[in-house]
Amino acid sequence: MRIGVFGGTFDPVHLGHLILAEQCREQAQLDRVLFMPAASPPHKQEQTLTPFAQRVEILALALSGNPAFQIDELEKDRVGPSFTVDTLTLLTQRHPNDNLAFMIGSDSLRDLPAWYQPKRILELAELLVMERSEWPCACPDALRASLGLGTDFPLRYRIVEAPLVAISSRDIRRRFKEGRSVRYMVPRAVEAYVADKRLYI
Ligand code: ATP
Repeated sequence: MRIGVFGGTFDPVHLGHLILAEQCREQAQLDRVLFMPAASPPHKQEQTLTPFAQRVEILALALSGNPAFQIDELEKDRVGPSFTVDTLTLLTQRHPNDNLAFMIGSDSLRDLPAWYQPKRILELAELLVMERSEWPCACPDALRASLGLGTDFPLRYRIVEAPLVAISSRDIRRRFKEGRSVRYMVPRAVEAYVADKRLYI
């Protein structure tokens, strides 16, 4: 099987995430996409997040009806920052006969050299990159250079073509706070849940 691994904070999940996941599924012929909410993202240590359980509930509403999309709570009980390399290592042990593809937006890709053990991440998974507004995709040569990878390193890298969607969770949270519309930016059920629980206000 080919398994897509989609890590994120998902606070909350929005249409940009869902379009990325679906385009990766189709273009990289993934059998399954695992949405893996981070318990404690290393780059968001200063930020107060919505509790993990609620972010999972929101994801469940958004993914409902798509059998290829699943939530994996592997990072839930991890103590300390949720490092991608640890997640991919565990997934490799769990799925020894499957191929993993790690899905990422071009903004996060720019930060990859600063992540924990980036080279190991690229050994464990193919990289599927989707362009995000204002962040042109780094070409494979630039990625090699920034990570100090030799030409013999078997970099598996694919750019997934998709419409640019300039939606971010930060913008969704701000709109909720200001009482503005988020209709058509998040699934209807997500909008209703957030309003009902009075999140982000
Ligand atoms: P925040 O605004 O709170 O920083 P976010 O919208 O960037 O959140 P994350 O959950 O942090 O969402 O992102 C998870 C992954 O999804 C990252 O790889 C990110 O690059 C990608 N991503 C998020 N939104 C988009 C989008 N609109 N287009 C393409 N990729 C996206």
